[in-house]
Amino acid sequence: MIYSSKNTVLNIVDGVGFLQFPALMKYDFLNHAFSTRLGGVSEGPFRSMNLNFKRGDDPEKVMENYHRFCQAAGFSFDSLVSSSQDHHTFVRKVTKADWGIGITRPHDIESVDALVTNEPGVTLVTHYADCTPLYFVDPEQKVIALAHAGWRGTIGKIGEAVVECMEEEYGCDPSDIIAVVGPAIGPCCYEVDTPVFEQFASLTELKPAYFTRSLGHGKYLVDLKETNRRMLLDAGLMSINISISDICTKCCSELIYSHRASGGQRGGAVAMMCLKETPEP
Ligand SMILES: [Zn+2]
Repeated sequence: MIYSSKNTVLNIVDGVGFLQFPALMKYDFLNHAFSTRLGGVSEGPFRSMNLNFKRGDDPEKVMENYHRFCQAAGFSFDSLVSSSQDHHTFVRKVTKADWGIGITRPHDIESVDALVTNEPGVTLVTHYADCTPLYFVDPEQKVIALAHAGWRGTIGKIGEAVVECMEEEYGCDPSDIIAVVGPAIGPCCYEVDTPVFEQFASLTELKPAYFTRSLGHGKYLVDLKETNRRMLLDAGLMSINISISDICTKCCSELIYSHRASGGQRGGAVAMMCLKETPEP
């Protein structure tokens, strides 16, 4: 561990850097991580742990990065199931039948911005570069989910869609769900223009004055993490069960890929999470 704050810890294993969150580290039945740029084989704007096949990097290097990342962070490469996200709010239930999707075999459906499972040995993988990662864990029903919340997904209430899926499909009680709002572009750096601001301002039930601020001249700052936190409260989660990573991806663009800091010339980070398989007795 070389960096630690109240809500985020940076681990380095075999040169591979990955973040974890104390709110989830206490559960020994799961493993979770968020990737950094450290410890991969990609070069140039993809330096070095690029885990996105769609950014123009050499696919063999991206594959090698997946192997290195899984080895260091304790995931089984064969168990990965990747989202095919494009800023919608569809939540997909996945099982071992989906192993390898988006990694060693093609995506079979598009527009999946959130993944959920209750099956041990299935590693959920979602993709980021400034957008907000949402981690969900129900320690009672042993259900986990990951969601990708950019501004469109946030406005579309993808966090609420995940909570509804966990309730309806797995019998979860929202007051049991632990959530982490992971590293994303912060309120220090996330500047938007009037049309985007107006969409956030329309979320009146969440009191937009608490997560938007005018800079004048038609420019605004939006706090994506706080918007998502309020949305999760609105969906029935308890305040004490939600934590927010203090890392801003644009301020920390040497450590984590940032779309805005790089002007779009970048690799991609992932969130990963799985329920551990209990060994045979
Ligand atoms: Zn910032």
